[in-house]
Amino acid sequence: MRKSLVAGNWKLNGSVESVQALTSGVVSQASELDVDVVLCPVFIHLDRVSAALVNSNVTLGAQNCSAELEGAYTGEVSPGMLQEIGCRYVILGHSERRSLFSETDQDVSAKVKAALGAGLVPIICVGETLEEREQSRAEEIVEAQLLAALDGLSKDLGSVVVAYEPVWAIGTGLTATPEQAQSMHAFIRAVLTKVSQDDSEKVRILYGGSVKPENASDLFSQADIDGGLIGGASLKVDDFIAICKAA
Ligand code: PGA
Repeated sequence: MRKSLVAGNWKLNGSVESVQALTSGVVSQASELDVDVVLCPVFIHLDRVSAALVNSNVTLGAQNCSAELEGAYTGEVSPGMLQEIGCRYVILGHSERRSLFSETDQDVSAKVKAALGAGLVPIICVGETLEEREQSRAEEIVEAQLLAALDGLSKDLGSVVVAYEPVWAIGTGLTATPEQAQSMHAFIRAVLTKVSQDDSEKVRILYGGSVKPENASDLFSQADIDGGLIGGASLKVDDFIAICKAA
């Protein structure tokens, strides 16, 4: 009942030339896919990628946005601006934003509200560090991040996507086992019922963290894993398409 979604988070990668090649490579193979495919380039490449996605079944997402809508906020990009140039999604609360750019749960919550207000679908990232997992605090951390990001949004729950990305699995080559991931995804879905009993089953919960063609099928076959947020492997057309096919 939930359509799978696979999003490529290109992070701070790509030249004009490589982004064009990657986009056209994905578009040319995506027409046969029965999953929602999203590409998330850096801000300055969004417009170009948006143009290349016209008449394709691939959609566009940004990697971040401002919580501010307009005004004196040098260097920021608002959700309305993203929507205007063709974005449907925006990744929010990625662990790199939280750890490297000091984003707090409150920042993420404000951005989620601003994104929904502009008609974007936020992909809300949550996940524990290795230390937190070893202290058996993974569920506590994920629940706190999730409830903060969704504070006051019970009516909008059907319009968000959640991505569970254990920090220790991002870019490390370490992946949560399908059982570890499913257990956390089921926990997340239970937490979502606290936000909205009616809509928790509608929310797509993606897994992220060293997803590769080799491990994608086992992860995506779990009951509560509805696709993936893909970093490194989304920069190679064949790997990304293989992951989409597994979803
Ligand atoms: P990775 O990144 O696939 O390279 O581990 C995932 C992410 O950060 O979204």
